[in-house]
Amino acid sequence: MAAKKKVRAGKKKVVKRAKGKKPAAKKAVGSPAGTDPKRVAAILAGLDAAYPDATCELNYSSAFQLLIATILSAQCTDVRVNQVTSELFKKYTKLEDFAYASPAELEKEIRPTGFFRNKTKSIMGASKGLLEKFGGEVPRTMEEILTLPGVARKTGNVVLGTAYGIASGVVVDTHVIRLSQRLDLTRNDDPKKIEQDLMKVIPENKWIKFSHQLIWHGRRVCAARKPKCAECNLEALCHSKDKTT
Ligand code: SF4
Repeated sequence: MAAKKKVRAGKKKVVKRAKGKKPAAKKAVGSPAGTDPKRVAAILAGLDAAYPDATCELNYSSAFQLLIATILSAQCTDVRVNQVTSELFKKYTKLEDFAYASPAELEKEIRPTGFFRNKTKSIMGASKGLLEKFGGEVPRTMEEILTLPGVARKTGNVVLGTAYGIASGVVVDTHVIRLSQRLDLTRNDDPKKIEQDLMKVIPENKWIKFSHQLIWHGRRVCAARKPKCAECNLEALCHSKDKTT
């Protein structure tokens, strides 16, 4: 009896795996990975080589116009937003025009960008906030900009980085979420956590440019569906399961 027990204790448990299936990679949720400084530097160098002039693709001629264009860009392409703002900014030339607009008219004018009721509320609320709290100027700190209705960190980062050159964080939009995950710069899904991960591994003087470069790469090469991996200059550094090569 004692001998039998000994044999059982020594037996190793065999985990059966379906034929041809690879074991799932262990995911260290919450900790940035793939972030060896040399690897990150190589990714940044690749982005610099591919997109040396990457910048915001929204048209604007002042910080407040960029704020409004960025509000409109939620769930909408920059091309569509630019079509809408090319007319909108001719009619609404001052903050006051937006702040005291007819909501029904503004809704109609921005309708092609989607979510037009909420966007109208955000545009009018943010414009009033700028007039009442900041003397009609877009403030230069994230803390202040976040007090405006309908303005979250993504919009704050776009406006501060693009209009003022102030690096307050990394813009995390749908492209930045997808690409930073594919490039293993984060293993989080929540945009706030992704931004924190990126701010830890990307040098601060690169935050603004890096955001635009990832967005450009996402639009031109690393699309959500069928990324063009054969054309991607980061291919050797990418181990994403979404790769098509
Ligand atoms: S190799 Fe493919 S999945 Fe990876 S970054 Fe390039 S385009 Fe995207």
